[in-house]
Amino acid sequence: MIITNKHHLPSMLKRAIEKEYTYRDKRYSITSLLDPDRVIMLKRRHNDEIEQDVTDLIFALLGTKTHFELEHIDLLENEHVEDHLEYTFENGYTLSGIIDHYDDTYLDDYKTCKAFTLIFKSDYDKWKKQLQMGAYLAYKKDGKWRKKGRIIAILKDWNRLKAQTEKDYPKFACKVVNFNLGTPKEVEKMILARFDRIIELEKMSDKDLPLCTPEERYNTGDKYAIKKKDNKRASKIHDTLEEAQKHLNNLEKDYQGAYEIEKREGENRKCMEYCSVCKFCDFYKEIVEKEEEEK
Ligand code: SF4
Repeated sequence: MIITNKHHLPSMLKRAIEKEYTYRDKRYSITSLLDPDRVIMLKRRHNDEIEQDVTDLIFALLGTKTHFELEHIDLLENEHVEDHLEYTFENGYTLSGIIDHYDDTYLDDYKTCKAFTLIFKSDYDKWKKQLQMGAYLAYKKDGKWRKKGRIIAILKDWNRLKAQTEKDYPKFACKVVNFNLGTPKEVEKMILARFDRIIELEKMSDKDLPLCTPEERYNTGDKYAIKKKDNKRASKIHDTLEEAQKHLNNLEKDYQGAYEIEKREGENRKCMEYCSVCKFCDFYKEIVEKEEEEK
């Protein structure tokens, strides 16, 4: 990966972020297995061409700093931090991961995230899978299964006023989210199913890779605008076609034929703002071309 510093931030930040992103055949990290199918493959295939700016990676640096601090605490007996683990399955594929912290009971991962991630539990499924795979690697190392996983979420945008006034807002800037990690057998089954999928994806060309789902693309959902036939601006935007149709039917009583419904396609926020492999993705290229044509 090429790290740029387009906004001339102190070069120390760039140096702190720069890491060797190397991929080896049949070796996948826990985090990469959690990426959408298309993203995993495009990242590996285009690693040498992917450009990311320091400004896009600043929060990742914040996370790394937390891990760095952890490495420098005095450990209790049977505690491990920042343990680099890997395990090769009979199919020849290796799972690798760095485990933030584990002892005989818990396996933990520290995350910096935004408050809405906790409010909407938007990453919980991913977090659980990450902890399960980490627990599996630790189990393969020492034969002990840790059923209890914890995400220690540090909220970088936590707001004291919201915590005092909004019911669902996290009360503190740090929250421990607990997960039951199931059994090693269940987790092994999940990992092997993921590798089976990887084997299929490796045979596909870039353009044949399955498209990321609307959720994975952070799609905002289609909207339905009620507008005067010769106007561009909408008088009201509805979330569903049914609501828009109801509104139009009411308008028809007084202004027959003057208004219409216009479908406005949802934006793919990840594709447009956060996807590091977008330049290599046909779907993104199509959106950009369409936008250019409409200008
Ligand atoms: S640009 Fe969008 S669809 Fe393409 S890989 Fe990125 S997130 Fe997925």
